[in-house]
Amino acid sequence: MPVESVASIAVRTDRKEIMNLPKRHHFVNGQELAPSSGEYVDGFDPRRGQPVSLVGRGNAADVDLAVQSAEKAFAAWRDMRPLARGRLLTSAAHAIRDQAGELAEIECLETGKSRVQALGEIEGTAQYFELYGGLATALHGDTVGLGAGYHSYTRREPYGVVGAILPWNAPLNQAGRACAPALSAGNTVVVKPSEATSGSVLFLARLLIKCGVPAGVFNVITGIGREAGEALVLHPRVRKVSFTGSLRAGQEIGRLAADRVLPLTLELGGKSPDIVFADADLDAAAPGVLKGFLTHAGQVCLSGTRVLVERSIHDRFVEAMKEAMDAYTIGRDDSTIGPMTTMAQYEKVQDYYAIAKAEGAVAEVGGHLPDDPALEGGWYVSPTIYSGVRNDMRIAREEIFGPVACVIPFDNESDAIRIANDTDYGLAAGIWTRDLSRAHRVAGLLEAGQVYVNEYMAGGVETPLGGYKLSGYGREKGLEALQHYTHVKCVTVRL
Ligand code: NAD
Repeated sequence: MPVESVASIAVRTDRKEIMNLPKRHHFVNGQELAPSSGEYVDGFDPRRGQPVSLVGRGNAADVDLAVQSAEKAFAAWRDMRPLARGRLLTSAAHAIRDQAGELAEIECLETGKSRVQALGEIEGTAQYFELYGGLATALHGDTVGLGAGYHSYTRREPYGVVGAILPWNAPLNQAGRACAPALSAGNTVVVKPSEATSGSVLFLARLLIKCGVPAGVFNVITGIGREAGEALVLHPRVRKVSFTGSLRAGQEIGRLAADRVLPLTLELGGKSPDIVFADADLDAAAPGVLKGFLTHAGQVCLSGTRVLVERSIHDRFVEAMKEAMDAYTIGRDDSTIGPMTTMAQYEKVQDYYAIAKAEGAVAEVGGHLPDDPALEGGWYVSPTIYSGVRNDMRIAREEIFGPVACVIPFDNESDAIRIANDTDYGLAAGIWTRDLSRAHRVAGLLEAGQVYVNEYMAGGVETPLGGYKLSGYGREKGLEALQHYTHVKCVTVRL
């Protein structure tokens, strides 16, 4: 099992130059709050491998203050007219768009992603607030027929305080994805962003206050998973947790939640197949498959990293992928391939280069660190395509979370489905074909929460997202997410 991907958990209270860096403090009850321990962990710029901030190391006492603040704000937020609550969320959408430049700067600094990528994700965040602001009035109960003598109806009620624990790859976007529907349904939230990337979520917290969202409705606790994250899951007044992150942490949270019978949404990892049939438009499929595993240097849970190619076109398609690779450059600033966001992730990709070599895979492109001296110090890896891969190899079974794809040949449609489903995960899958009947037939048989046909990662804030098998349960995005942030109560009256 990989260890927790903490950029660095060294406490740096004694180093003078480091202590001058900007501090990321919690945000509780509408205000900044320093960690009660007085301890910080380093926040890094992955493009240079240098510390750029100090992140408050939250503990159970800090989490308790945040939960108290959220609990205090709950009743008024729940009882607000949904139209008014929705209006506040919609105004947050406008504010996020207005502040996109500043938000992008923080995200680029902390994650290493390109500005174009960051701006795209920030626009998505605005859309989550827009969508769920509009849907605040759409949460309805039903009437239930019991015949004469009874009136029975259901109400959709918020849980209360919701905890949201987030990873480092798309911090603001995932905060919007988890929190906008929770808030829309009348819950208040305590967010625990990744220790590597808290800046943009803290910025969002201040922005929500400026938009008129009452203090205490949206709180942020920074810090480490096993401290602040676990304390949030264990807090008796937290009534639901939405977790996005690794399988390891998801399983740990699941075990803790079981004792409390705490409802969870778990959005975990993937090892998603992207299937290219011989009849596909190969000119579109080659760059499309690359985008599927190179977006944000592969640090995307949905990445299509097992590229299943019909044997009759295998060699031709591998060549087409290699040619399409020319569109990608590795580098600082706005290059298409940025660094790994954490040092642990940087080391993990290198481990898999070694594993692939030992397993006998052929590196058609990459398979080693880039040798450009201009990248010195940054956590850069090379985009990599392996051929000669069998689906039982570790590189085909384990999530790498970097820009690394395995090409695996298949013989026919049923063989493609068998290999695609032969994985512990089930987050996403892609299909490239001109045959629409086949597209729908295969889509119906794939064990994955989202299936894309002729465009990998097609979809929007409106389309539900979630996993099959070890990729998790519950759904984010779309109308489905609203159901997951509410209880159903049934009231029956004897007339
Ligand atoms: P991670 O699991 O290490 O950390 C995620 C969050 O959980 C962080 O905030 C961390 O501090 C916290 N955490 C860690 N251990 C915890 C514990 N025991 N109790 C409570 N909180 C804990 O994941 P990561 O390295 O930040 O992100 C990469 C992983 O996230 C990949 O596996 C990726 O597939 C997954 N991911 C999934 C989705 C999705 O929607 N399915 C989206 C993005 C990332």
